[in-house]
Amino acid sequence: MKYELDTIPVWDALRAETECALCLLERRSRNNALRYFLGPAVMAPEVRVQTNQRGFAPHNLRLLAKDQNKLGLALLAHTRLKTLRAHLAARSAKLENLASKVSTKTGPGAAWASKPVVATQAREFANYLRQQEKDCLIDEKVGNDLERYCYTVLQLWKEDPDFRRTWEAGKGLCLHHMPSVLEMAAAVLDARRLGEFLVGFLALQNTNLARVENDLLGFTQTFDSTHSREITGNTVAALNRALQKTSGEFQEYQEESKARRGPLLGAH
Ligand SMILES: [Zn+2]
Repeated sequence: MKYELDTIPVWDALRAETECALCLLERRSRNNALRYFLGPAVMAPEVRVQTNQRGFAPHNLRLLAKDQNKLGLALLAHTRLKTLRAHLAARSAKLENLASKVSTKTGPGAAWASKPVVATQAREFANYLRQQEKDCLIDEKVGNDLERYCYTVLQLWKEDPDFRRTWEAGKGLCLHHMPSVLEMAAAVLDARRLGEFLVGFLALQNTNLARVENDLLGFTQTFDSTHSREITGNTVAALNRALQKTSGEFQEYQEESKARRGPLLGAH
């Protein structure tokens, strides 16, 4: 697969010195996608064809619902629901037909109606609904952006000594985003560079995981009267840093900090 370089946002995210540059890039990418789908795209027929056929995952819909553009979301949701209901109608009718036969044991085909037949159809219906929930246009955009950013990280690491120094002096990545970089490194680096990158990256990750673990221990000890740890801003923030390091940035935290600064989908 061919990827494009996108160096400016990657450099900006690394210079921000957060616990994970990809968390920051993912947040920006998601906010761009949220703005896109509630912006002029709402009235674009080609976009509506897409949003009618494929919706948004619940975690993205929750963020869209917090935006002030209620009419935009209502228009999207209305035609999506209309399309979805048309797709559901045939499946629903088939399941209902089988269910009524097995429940009453009367009517055409009732003799062969059995629980396994109905159960299989019910599971297929459930799978279809689950698939609709997972097939998300916003997650697809964010996923494509993240692949491009991972590719850019590795190209910059390979080509730009200044980037390599900044990367190696940084705080590494969270464990949620680490797999994406490992996979991209395996895909795009030659043997020698892959080895070199992995040695440095694993050491960087170990150093920074040990740091947040140690800071977290310090935070827990501030609750223990036998320790006289001083409570500082650094100690209080240790829990959030550790949670981000293990699981990626929590959108709730960002929403709260954004709420203090201004509109949810405001510019970053
Ligand atoms: Zn991350």
